[in-house]
Amino acid sequence: METSRRNFLIGTSIVAGSAAVGGYHETLGKAITMQRRGEKAKDAIYGNAPLTEIIQKEGKIAFSNDYVVKPSVCNGCTTFCSVRVKIDAKSGEVVRVFGNPYSLLSSDPWLPYKTPLIESFKATSGFKESGLEMRSTACSRGNLVYEKLKDPFRVTTPLKRVGKRGEDKWASISIEQLIKEISEGGNLFGEGEVQGLKALADTKTLIDAQNPDYGPIANKLCVLGTADEGRQNYMVHRFVQSFGTVNFMGHTSICGLSMRAGEAAYLDDFATSPHMKPDFEHCEFLLSIGTAPAQAGNPFKRQAKLLAKSRTGGALRYVIVTPILTNSDSIAVGDRSRWLPIKPSGDLALVMGMIRVIIEEERYLKAYLAIPSDVAQKTLNEVSFTNASHLVIMDGVKKVRFWWMLPRWLM
Ligand code: SF4
Repeated sequence: METSRRNFLIGTSIVAGSAAVGGYHETLGKAITMQRRGEKAKDAIYGNAPLTEIIQKEGKIAFSNDYVVKPSVCNGCTTFCSVRVKIDAKSGEVVRVFGNPYSLLSSDPWLPYKTPLIESFKATSGFKESGLEMRSTACSRGNLVYEKLKDPFRVTTPLKRVGKRGEDKWASISIEQLIKEISEGGNLFGEGEVQGLKALADTKTLIDAQNPDYGPIANKLCVLGTADEGRQNYMVHRFVQSFGTVNFMGHTSICGLSMRAGEAAYLDDFATSPHMKPDFEHCEFLLSIGTAPAQAGNPFKRQAKLLAKSRTGGALRYVIVTPILTNSDSIAVGDRSRWLPIKPSGDLALVMGMIRVIIEEERYLKAYLAIPSDVAQKTLNEVSFTNASHLVIMDGVKKVRFWWMLPRWLM
């Protein structure tokens, strides 16, 4: 019985195996011969991927002659991560972007600045698997930004509208023509006169004598900055100041303004307006509304790594409140992460509901709210204080005078 059972199992395994191989014979054939689209792959392990830029053998680092590695900054978003770019030595083309291990925007942990360069390559290599912990990355967008260098649609000359508004017709013009038209104005679009900067270059005449607060005519010019990739302070502000307008609108005037204003108010620091980030390492519960720490909120890559570390090695539990399911929620960590789907614009109602429950059920920390200043904090030997109690100012409360509600003709 035993023998026939064994034979039966072997028989069925062969049949099942043949069926599996039969279904995937093409894929399997390519995998065995390392072929891709009919061509034999260059390398049995790495396939057709570009070879590595460094060669590490027992902790000794050598550089490939085929590539050059240069430090750079990614302009993919306003995080401006420090990165390293791998350049093909023959063609001069960028072939890969990865993080700079000295930068805390790209790595956690990051290397101290005094670490010799050669050591930085060793730290990120496979030597004793240190590259696993010291991995320094560009995000998925950062990995593709360099494609812009050879993008046929990249705008490299000034474009002037040559059709009606909305017709989407444009023509390339020279920098000289751009400067002339912007400075002098004229009938630039065949739609009547357009004022040039010359007409506004007046720092003496008021825009409106009845409203001197508007300032001189030069203030009619508002310069819109974009992300500050290093030239804004020098180029843009210098131009704004020499022209004489006070109106400059930078990236942070639009992007994240409510967050910045709230944080500046909380920290009482409107001058430097510092960013606040969750303290993942020490946090035990995080409520993230409208943002997803592994996917949004710069520095994205570092936040993602800190989140992942804290939800597995630390005490962190968190809830993400967003209309769409993001990468921040991970089934792998069980009930440590939770996604609360919400209808777009439903967050205010949610927060108001939470506040109501907190007040009605007295689920607030009374003792903490009773520490309104650093003096009280020191006296009570506590670790922090809150100015939340100042939100309710009881001094000088005016009594409601009901005669205010009477119509004027009755008084
Ligand atoms: S977060 Fe990504 S896109 Fe933004 S600067 Fe860093 S690598 Fe570039």
